[in-house]
Amino acid sequence: MEIRKNIIVQGIVQGVGFRPFIHKLVQNYNLSGWVLNSNQGVEMDIEGKTEELNNFISDIKKRLPPLARIEKMEVNQLPLIGYKGFYIKKSIVKEEDGFVLVSPDISICKDCLQELYDPHNRRFRYPFINCTNCGPRFTIIKDIPYDREKTTMSTFKMCPQCQSEYENIEDRRYHAQPNACADCGPQLSLYQNKKKLEDIDPIEEAVKLLKKGKIGAIKGLGGFHLACDAANNKAVARLRWLKNRETKPFALMSSDLEKINQYCEVKKKEEEWLINQSRPIVLLKKKKNNLISPLAAPKNNCLGVMLPYTPLHYLLLKDNFIALIMTSGNIADQPIIGDNQEALEKLDRIADFFLLYNRDIFNRCDDSVLKIINSDNVFFRRSRGYVPHPIILDFKLKEVLALGGELKNTISFSKENYVFLSQYLGDLKSVEALNFLKESIVSLKKMFRINPEIIACDLHPDYLSTQYAEEIKVEKGLKVVKVQHHHAHIVSCMAENNIKEKVIGVAYDGTGYGEDGNIWGGEFLLCDLKEYLRVGHLKYYPLPGGDKAISEPWRMAYSYLYSIYGLKAKTFDIDFSRRIDYDKLSIIEKMLDKNINSPLTSSCGRLFDAASSLIGIRDEISYEGQAAMELESFCASGIKERYKFRIYQEEEEFIIDPQEIFIDIIKDLKEGIDKKVMAAKFHNTVAEFTLNLCGKIRENTGINKIALSGGVFQNRYLTEKIISLLEKDDFQVYTQRKVPPNDGGISLGQAVVAGS
Ligand code: ZN
Ligand code: ZN
Ligand code: FE
Repeated sequence: MEIRKNIIVQGIVQGVGFRPFIHKLVQNYNLSGWVLNSNQGVEMDIEGKTEELNNFISDIKKRLPPLARIEKMEVNQLPLIGYKGFYIKKSIVKEEDGFVLVSPDISICKDCLQELYDPHNRRFRYPFINCTNCGPRFTIIKDIPYDREKTTMSTFKMCPQCQSEYENIEDRRYHAQPNACADCGPQLSLYQNKKKLEDIDPIEEAVKLLKKGKIGAIKGLGGFHLACDAANNKAVARLRWLKNRETKPFALMSSDLEKINQYCEVKKKEEEWLINQSRPIVLLKKKKNNLISPLAAPKNNCLGVMLPYTPLHYLLLKDNFIALIMTSGNIADQPIIGDNQEALEKLDRIADFFLLYNRDIFNRCDDSVLKIINSDNVFFRRSRGYVPHPIILDFKLKEVLALGGELKNTISFSKENYVFLSQYLGDLKSVEALNFLKESIVSLKKMFRINPEIIACDLHPDYLSTQYAEEIKVEKGLKVVKVQHHHAHIVSCMAENNIKEKVIGVAYDGTGYGEDGNIWGGEFLLCDLKEYLRVGHLKYYPLPGGDKAISEPWRMAYSYLYSIYGLKAKTFDIDFSRRIDYDKLSIIEKMLDKNINSPLTSSCGRLFDAASSLIGIRDEISYEGQAAMELESFCASGIKERYKFRIYQEEEEFIIDPQEIFIDIIKDLKEGIDKKVMAAKFHNTVAEFTLNLCGKIRENTGINKIALSGGVFQNRYLTEKIISLLEKDDFQVYTQRKVPPNDGGISLGQAVVAGS
């Protein structure tokens, strides 16, 4: 029997070779009809024998092109028309309504890589080779529909050969919008001392300079990298000095897994992520006595490593270097630079040379970073390779613009059952970062045709994002919903796991503004997508000096000690009292006595800071989370012991008092216990009190689902321990794998709270 079916496919189906794929697939069957791009995705209208048509439909899902992703497939049976043959119909994309998903940037594919190295191919060593299955996407798109005129490739006119590939449905470059070759596409250039060098091969010259220990500003896919030879200690030291970055780890790039294996341990799961077409930076355990400069990531047992993702990277690294340092090209805490002119001006002080090209980056996008914890990926930063792919919910939301928090910020737009997270915007503390946020709003709003009726932001009155929310509220007459920081964290976790019912949320992080005006960060919340109840938290202790205490963990250590022991604390015969100046401690005492600039905090991050300093690992930091990270790096394995703690009830809330932890640490310090053992015992204690309090809350409420979120859950030792303890006690534990548990995931939670 002959039937006709109309099929609408939604997802990433445009600009990824989907129509040619359908065209080819149809040849295997005796079918007729058409296929077209519409503003919903791809639509097909096909006639044929029932069995053939059904097989064809199931084949679509099974044999999808590499970059395509189907989110929804709607199939309707209709009366026969009597089509003859099969053809691609002209697109009907109405721009006002509807939207399509846009592919993230994808690393060069195997076919293109082979052509890149093939001396007989016309694109031999052409650094901008790409095809329908790979290359730039999000970073070059200005607007939809995704056509060449609406990308930064619009200024390049295809040569006849490229044009014929582009038009040939049998070709791998059929409708590949960034299609180009050396005759018609973008070109490299190398600048030194503000002058363009002529008559050189820019790649060979760049390699030569890097081998001499020079620092290069290299234009990547989403912005500039500052690069140098990672094995050259002097070069790395100089980069640190010039970038004014004391200890924060630098990312590395190596040509292949074999090289990475020379300096890092690579487990199976980690390998899978390294070779993933999104090419994130993966945090790997360093091998002892490796050839990489110890200055790449001082005092850290991990290195952030990625494989090349553009043809240019491959050409630079092939047969060269064990690894290159590839750190974001920016000034101090400002956003990544993407513009040639801006790079030449702002990075001039750091870079010895510039490797540029003349295709513009429209949407700047940093590298993504993740770590494998408990055999799952945990994002530290979700950006290039993932943005603008949405988080897909199984429920619908109102249209919301969520502005996030402050640190490691992202914004989110919700539309229907999608939440679109922006790229990583960095710490929202400068005009440049705020401008990047505004840029990102304009770009995503346009790309996905979103018109938010609600703005969501943090409760913190001083965040630039909160202030900006108030500003646009007045301008555009929108409603503002303020979402408590830790509620946003937990809902972010719930949303990506598609949980709607009440959970016990454990939010452990550094800083979040509480409803009582105190600084929260060790929170147990009973919450759903709309509301929360704070049922437990770490006991409040003063944070002497506020922000100053965040950069100087010894202050928090002493805050605990002084609160517990009073003046006696200063007289302990421990290394801490010898390291920290007597007068400095006296000042802290005065601040605490008179309650000067000492806000109360229940922060878990600060608890880690205090332990790190007291144990003798880190008294002052130069990047966020450093003291805790180094404390984790110190943990000995196989330690079962822990310190004591106390949980008591105060009105409706449970309070965890870490007082006894510090009493025990002092005891260990006096006995000269190994720091590594102390670090492990401390972590074990935090895991144990988490389990203990979750148990009490379950007893009271009967709720068995736990959602974990907050930056502290980037700590592998702690997270693995907590998950294993909770699961052993029959809890159902949810963690974050799609968005970062740190503040980079806040905007998702805000959008869901405000939009549901
Ligand atoms: Zn390709
Ligand atoms: Zn060409
Ligand atoms: Fe947070």
